[in-house]
Amino acid sequence: MVHLKTDEEIQLIKESAQILGKAHGEVARLIKPGVKTSALDKVAEQYIRDNGGVPSFKNYNGFPATLCISVNEAVVHGFPGNYELKETDIISVDCGVYFKGFHSDSAYTYPMEGASKETLLLLERTYESLQKGIEKARAGNRIGDVSYAIQSYVEGFGYGVVRELVGHGIGKNLHEDPEVPNFGKQGKGVKLVPGMVFAIEPMINQGTKNVVQENDGWTIRTADKKPSAHFEHTVAVLEEKTEVLTTHQYIEENYSYKWRSKSR
Ligand code: MG
Ligand code: MG
Repeated sequence: MVHLKTDEEIQLIKESAQILGKAHGEVARLIKPGVKTSALDKVAEQYIRDNGGVPSFKNYNGFPATLCISVNEAVVHGFPGNYELKETDIISVDCGVYFKGFHSDSAYTYPMEGASKETLLLLERTYESLQKGIEKARAGNRIGDVSYAIQSYVEGFGYGVVRELVGHGIGKNLHEDPEVPNFGKQGKGVKLVPGMVFAIEPMINQGTKNVVQENDGWTIRTADKKPSAHFEHTVAVLEEKTEVLTTHQYIEENYSYKWRSKSR
């Protein structure tokens, strides 16, 4: 069942998303080769708690951390630890914040300066696919229109679209209906109506769409060990427009490597 949100509730999700965006920004300042992923997690948790929020992921179904950190061929749900970032890595940072009764959720994949041109293109196109999905998330459209926009764009480059994990409604719960797959057919699926709030999160692989789960019970990796990219926003469908509630602004301001201008 889809829980429609009132304007007041959407406003609260936006407040939650502001804390989230700034927590991402604090993480962005630190990302560089040699940094331990556990250090990123610590900073994110501290920022969220200092600002009255609670990390949405920590203890969710037993997840041990504030951030999901997934490096290179890890798609999603990796967790922070002693791993030190390397010159050629890409690192996906996914975070959620619970504030005044509502969750927000967003993710961003960073390339280190040594990441290959091919990998930068994967990141850029995955980012673009998120924008294409958001453009289709309009009242009157269907979830399948969002899914198709993402899938058709990235498959045009020969990339693999992960099937096992999908975007999701969000609100009082981190994961609500509807599911928002990154693959699907135009005109199919749940109809979008004002008051829907959901996370759109393309998970796109350079090679095969197939993934495997690590023995840690969480980390999802590509089956062929090629890199995977992940970008996510929480959006609200309104009468006249769709509003992106989360922000990557603080990431883009604070991350030292201005990679998006270099990927073409
Ligand atoms: Mg999500
Ligand atoms: Mg997320």
